[in-house]
Amino acid sequence: EAKRHRDRGPVAFGDMIETADREARIMERALREALDRPGELSLVYQPIRDPRTGRLAKAEALARWTSPQLGPVRPDRFIAVAEQSGLIVDLGWRLFLLLCDDLERHADLVACFNVSPLQLLAPTFVPDLIGELGRRGIDPRRLEVELTERVLVDDPRLAAERLEELRAAGFPIALDDFGTGYSSIGYLRQMGFDTLKIDRSYVADLHDRIERQALLNAMIELAHALGLEVVCEGVEAEDDLRIVRELGCDLAQGYHLGRPMALGDLMAPCQGPARSVA
Ligand code: C2E
Ligand code: MG
Ligand code: MG
Ligand code: MG
Repeated sequence: EAKRHRDRGPVAFGDMIETADREARIMERALREALDRPGELSLVYQPIRDPRTGRLAKAEALARWTSPQLGPVRPDRFIAVAEQSGLIVDLGWRLFLLLCDDLERHADLVACFNVSPLQLLAPTFVPDLIGELGRRGIDPRRLEVELTERVLVDDPRLAAERLEELRAAGFPIALDDFGTGYSSIGYLRQMGFDTLKIDRSYVADLHDRIERQALLNAMIELAHALGLEVVCEGVEAEDDLRIVRELGCDLAQGYHLGRPMALGDLMAPCQGPARSVA
């Protein structure tokens, strides 16, 4: 019985890889088609608020894809497929154009958008951004570029060059999901980030967890000592919000402060500057 199981092992594993592979190929083809068709891809926006007053400071643009064939696909799935296939460069550009449309429509929108390593490292990335914003008359300071620590891993020198180009053009730059990667906190200042987004694994569910609060406190103090603005991600409950406020976190993001939503809902007057959270 045990032997039979063992014998089947590698075969089943091989089948699994093949299935995952086929799935990725199907998704890649569907994604390629989505790039040529309007309407399948869209952006939603999640509020980033002052944890003391609830004021809306900025909003993170997040990609959504509903394929006629596959239905709604989770972003971490299709972004991963896009990165592996190289489609992320085209996809990222389409999403950037949608973001520009929204920035044109809402003069008081300040947005963050996610940029994958392959996009950043493309030689024309920064000139393309500058060109499009210039044509439309959009101020680059309204667009914060979010990068993860992964961009620093493959080619730190080229990444540093790109960051310098972005900074020179006036884009604020955030390090996303901090604490899930490899970079040291000293590196952050050196690379010229403006904002540190602390990953939600350090933030959610803080209540009654004194050690995790101490860790978060140390991260915030260190970031402040380096002159960085701190955003705490993953604020899911009133207790989380109270604690990040007490720890002096500058801005907060999470389901408790607002889910990703249509821009119209975020900017609607009844939604106000924010619900009061103080
Ligand atoms: P991210 O940039 O770290 O975005 C935050 C993710 O956390 C979003 O997931 C958001 O819905 C989720 N989130 C926000 N608040 C909470 C919370 O309180 N609790 C929990 N459990 N989750 C929360 P989403 O929209 O599924 O996006 C996942 C990832 O996909 C993003 O992580 C980002 O890495 C990537 N992504 C999304 N849009 C784009 C894009 O336009 N371009 C690129 N390159 N990547 C994107
Ligand atoms: Mg992000
Ligand atoms: Mg994040
Ligand atoms: Mg993330």
